[in-house]
Amino acid sequence: MNKERKLIIAGNWKMNKTVAEALDLAAGLKLELANVKEVDIVVCPPYTALSEVSKAILDSNIRLGAQNMSEHNVGAYTGEIAAVMLKEFSVRYVILGHSERRQYQQESDALIARKALAVHRAALKPIVCIGETLAEREAGQTEQVLSTQVRGSLAELDKEQMVETVVAYEPVWAIGTGKTASPAQAQEAHAFIRRVLAGMFDETVARKVRIQYGGSVKPANARELMSLPDVDGALVGGAALEARSFTDIIKNSI
Ligand code: PEP
Repeated sequence: MNKERKLIIAGNWKMNKTVAEALDLAAGLKLELANVKEVDIVVCPPYTALSEVSKAILDSNIRLGAQNMSEHNVGAYTGEIAAVMLKEFSVRYVILGHSERRQYQQESDALIARKALAVHRAALKPIVCIGETLAEREAGQTEQVLSTQVRGSLAELDKEQMVETVVAYEPVWAIGTGKTASPAQAQEAHAFIRRVLAGMFDETVARKVRIQYGGSVKPANARELMSLPDVDGALVGGAALEARSFTDIIKNSI
């Protein structure tokens, strides 16, 4: 597939996989994806499996991501994880502002913006998630919601940092529901996000930023979604939990 930006496909394992299960999955992916050079591949295990998965994918083309990170560097923040701790395991990417964290942990755009800056200061790359709910889409508020989230969640970044940031468009109504945005809906939202980025930063920055689609991506719909001009990869939940389906998503996207 001939793309303007290199595809980045990331698996968000969420709160799944013991260390043994994570190692099984990592071993399968390492084997199946060994020859893939066309796509940046990222896996985001739970914190408890980062150390072992990091060792398992050493010397492979698979990069490690975390699912969240503290905005603080060190100190009395019970239950939080700092950038320096993630770097010990060669983590390269950090998912921020996933809709589940926005919903269950009340994460705000302002907090996500501070976290994104902390991720960059540690020389890691954030994957910043945005997306509208079904109610917001049905009320015709999709563009307003996306614009607010893009402007709010990326507010602290400069142009150089923005270029090294991945945005994940994940319509909340498509996450884990089996409902996927239609190609037209996905392309429209991605193009809109890129226009907002051009307004916030400039055209050059907007053209360089990779925007992933997330929401029930599967082997069967990956090719069509990844072929859209403004879709530069995928953030995959359910289908990233098995080597076969995650591998097929990647191979079908090449
Ligand atoms: C996600 O949670 O980021 C996601 C896209 O999940 P799923 O692929 O299961 O819809």
